[in-house]
Amino acid sequence: MDAEVRKKCEQAARIWGESECAIALTGAGISVPSGIPDFRSPGGLWSKFDPNEVCSQWALENNPRGVWEFMLEAVGMFSRAEPNPAHAALADLDKKGRLEAVVTQNIDGLHQMAGNREVIEFHGGCNRFFCHKCGREFVFNGLEDIAEVDMPWMCFECGGIVRPDVVFFGEQIPFKALARTQDLASRADLVVVVGTSGEVAPANTVPHMVTSRGGRMIEINLGPTLYAEIADVSIFAPAQEALPRIGEMVSARQPGV
Ligand code: ZN
Repeated sequence: MDAEVRKKCEQAARIWGESECAIALTGAGISVPSGIPDFRSPGGLWSKFDPNEVCSQWALENNPRGVWEFMLEAVGMFSRAEPNPAHAALADLDKKGRLEAVVTQNIDGLHQMAGNREVIEFHGGCNRFFCHKCGREFVFNGLEDIAEVDMPWMCFECGGIVRPDVVFFGEQIPFKALARTQDLASRADLVVVVGTSGEVAPANTVPHMVTSRGGRMIEINLGPTLYAEIADVSIFAPAQEALPRIGEMVSARQPGV
């Protein structure tokens, strides 16, 4: 870690130490070190699959086989992944009362696995399934369960496709997630953005909700993003290096000191 990044981590820890209600907003970048490439990056899932053909309303109605080829690849990747030190640092800050909640655009479940108490999944999660047609819920206890099912997975009752509880292209963000996020953003005095460049709406409005009320913002990304103008501190470094370092410093401080 170079001196510039170290200095920025210290600034970030100072701001975090002064905060009384911090929330984190995370995106694909935080899970890359866990072996989950950003869907949109070269080598990511969208380089192999066309989202319109496997992750859309049209696909759910017309291409169940394609949806499930894609889902098996995604679920397989998630089930092999484990939280990395960036996830662990957020969970630790949560345990120490320094982080209220995590709002994430990720569907991989790694924040929950790391131990964060409240994780708001903007785009849903890949561990819950229901019938797209009749709404019946299906329990899923691991990849082995799915491996037993004939693909594509169809509802035994109505013949509709069984789908994950994730937001497909063209679908709405779950109302509960939106409402809870707005509630948190209206109280937070700090938002820590990790691994997301702010291009995906509406999650990208969360930092603005906090900063427009005078709250502060820290971003940890690999390079400059759309958040440059509103960030108090921009740390351009791998999150799995910067976050644990910041976390240690925040934990060493007393609240408000
Ligand atoms: Zn059904």
